[in-house]
Amino acid sequence: MKPSQIKKFQEQQRRFSDGVGKRIQKLSQLWDAINKAPDGQLIELEDMILEAHKLAGTATTLGFIDLGERGRDIEILLRPFLENKQLPKNDPIIEEIVSSLASVATIEPKRPEDMTYGEVTLLHEEGRSKQLVYVAADNLDDTKDMVEQLEFIDYEVLSFDNANDLKDALSNESPSVMIVDINEFDLLDEISKFWRKESGIPLVVLCASECWESRLHAARAGAFAFFQKPVEHDDILGVFDSLWESNSAQYRVLIVEDERMIAEHYSVVLQGAGMKTAILDDTEHLLDELGEFHPDLVLMDLYMPNYSGVEAASVIRQHNAHTNLPIVYLSGETDLKMQMQALQVGADDFLTKPINDLHLTQAVSIRAKRFRQLSALMDRDSLTGLLNHSNLKVALERELSRAKRHNSPVSFVMIDIDHFKSINDKYGHPVGDKVIKGVARLLNYRFRKTDTAARYGGEEFALILPDTPADIALRLIDEFRITFAKTPFSNGPETFFATLSAGIATFPEFQSIESIIEAADSSLYLAKEKGRNRVVTHVELDLDDDESQKNSA
Ligand code: GH3
Ligand code: MG
Ligand code: MG
Ligand code: MG
Repeated sequence: MKPSQIKKFQEQQRRFSDGVGKRIQKLSQLWDAINKAPDGQLIELEDMILEAHKLAGTATTLGFIDLGERGRDIEILLRPFLENKQLPKNDPIIEEIVSSLASVATIEPKRPEDMTYGEVTLLHEEGRSKQLVYVAADNLDDTKDMVEQLEFIDYEVLSFDNANDLKDALSNESPSVMIVDINEFDLLDEISKFWRKESGIPLVVLCASECWESRLHAARAGAFAFFQKPVEHDDILGVFDSLWESNSAQYRVLIVEDERMIAEHYSVVLQGAGMKTAILDDTEHLLDELGEFHPDLVLMDLYMPNYSGVEAASVIRQHNAHTNLPIVYLSGETDLKMQMQALQVGADDFLTKPINDLHLTQAVSIRAKRFRQLSALMDRDSLTGLLNHSNLKVALERELSRAKRHNSPVSFVMIDIDHFKSINDKYGHPVGDKVIKGVARLLNYRFRKTDTAARYGGEEFALILPDTPADIALRLIDEFRITFAKTPFSNGPETFFATLSAGIATFPEFQSIESIIEAADSSLYLAKEKGRNRVVTHVELDLDDDESQKNSA
């Protein structure tokens, strides 16, 4: 468990301890009421089962194992009575358990250190704006070009020419990835003495052809990728892409669970593994929440007071937009009947409470990942992974209406690679594709998660920048343009550069999708006219109009 998780967990344990007296009191009041109730009045019995069920789940999850077991015992003992519509009046075993609760509650809970947690290293650690890369080489001259390229793209790179310095740096701060460039065995052998795959830091090895043995060594230790030198930068960036894709994806998980504490606990566990979570404690606003939060998976309690999880799931499935959304049920061991029902509605998995944290993280991330991949296939352009044309329009519509509600600016940018036809003609179509991917990659690296980048068509791209007025968009896109112009592309041994032009139009100056696209397009056209490799905003467009009017007047 990470220190921040331990603190949150201890806080949850404290809060549970503070409130446990009330829970026990409620259970014994219900027990008294059952003993006094007229035959056939089952309401208190139902309530007591629910309370015992909650106690079982929450106490166990938070490390109060003994208390959790008592809760489960009560639940298991009461259920058959409810099924037979009988009251367990003065049942001595239940009586005994209920009266033992207060003292059992004083038993020390498990310490957070002894609870199992799924730990996943976060590549995008919070608070760090640039991703950190460590480069170690037995000859740092060999890595100069690569480091320069990484820095262009906005990675922070630290270089080391010996294993000891690298080891010190690793104990100081974990990089997102480590690249080791070698010509001889020694350096990698030294590093494999302290680097472990389990550290979660992916290792990429670049080596001269003679370093086969060393390569084997690192392969056994679990290196992520190997390249024989000379290496094309594009290939390394491709490895990075696949790393970020599989590890940094912040899956979004909606937790539907009436027991707040347990929901918060799952939330902490999943957040610890880098996911984003939202909690809903009743099903009333479920559809709204799905629309707002866009989860990659719903974690659904089976047993809730007003609607069962199964009912809620059938409501979700009725909506076309959510037919593929994975639903994983959280269920107590005693909910067998409901599990059967749930299967019919299309359950993706059952997790039985109390849930092992590692199991929770894995079950959730595997399914969320598959969902993402499927949706990505449907929404995205296959060459670049960017949003495609039609989804761009959907996104633009969404951002414009959001901007209208919040009264905030939005900039829309059209980007087109300059003289792309001649790049194709000179180097061939596959190399042209590399340049297109280069633009896409830089868009992904350079812009915020809230910005939307799309492939508009062939060598044209579009970008939506929420909360960004024209002057700031101009600055950002111009920096982007400059960086792109400095990005080297390779055609075999030959290196070449490409440029791009961009046009910007902004809301509120343009209010409709059609008008903002048209204005950005005209700005782009003007940028091309003025000589390419430049950025033009609709402000200049207006000036230009005035000019031409004056000229023609
Ligand atoms: P300008 O500076 O005016 O934009 O000139 P340009 O040559 O970039 O513009 P033009 O629109 O004439 O040419 C675009 C070329 O892009 C034509 C087309 O063959 C090529 N193209 C379109 N899609 C792809 C693709 O997916 N891959 C590759 N390699 N080329 C593509
Ligand atoms: Mg529940
Ligand atoms: Mg074009
Ligand atoms: Mg072009």
